[in-house]
Amino acid sequence: MLNLQQARWHIAQRIGTIIRASKLFDTEPWGKEDQARFLNQALWVSTTFSPLKLLDMVQEIEISLGRKRLEKWGTRIIDIDIIFYSNKIIATDRLQVPHPLMQERNFVLQPVNEIATKWKHPILQKTVAQLALECKDERKVNFS
Ligand code: AMP
Repeated sequence: MLNLQQARWHIAQRIGTIIRASKLFDTEPWGKEDQARFLNQALWVSTTFSPLKLLDMVQEIEISLGRKRLEKWGTRIIDIDIIFYSNKIIATDRLQVPHPLMQERNFVLQPVNEIATKWKHPILQKTVAQLALECKDERKVNFS
């Protein structure tokens, strides 16, 4: 909870205005089950940064908050992902937008659905509301 609060503070200071913020969602772990549950939140941020510059800033904030890469999918202090950037499609080694796993994860779709339900995925051509309805992820996501 405190990590999310600090992340929001850094984002507002260093990236841009937070236009909307979802509630906090308490999520069963994904990928690796023997670890604590996660807290997730979606933010809609207005920024002048390009997508790559935005990724740089996000990674700087993760480092400021003390994130170290211990193991993929393992417990982490903070993980900030770019889920989408307007209707841009980016497919490079370093950055994929929209996030390629967003449609498979309730812990992404539920919070994003709260703040951007009508946004249309530029590749799948479905709204977040549709993706959330169709998602096969069985892990439960609850309001925290
Ligand atoms: P993670 O461990 O989930 O934070 O993954 C971070 C890695 O994913 C970084 O090395 C990024 O270059 C890469 N990446 C690719 N697409 C994205 C995205 N949409 N948002 C955040 N990181 C991304």
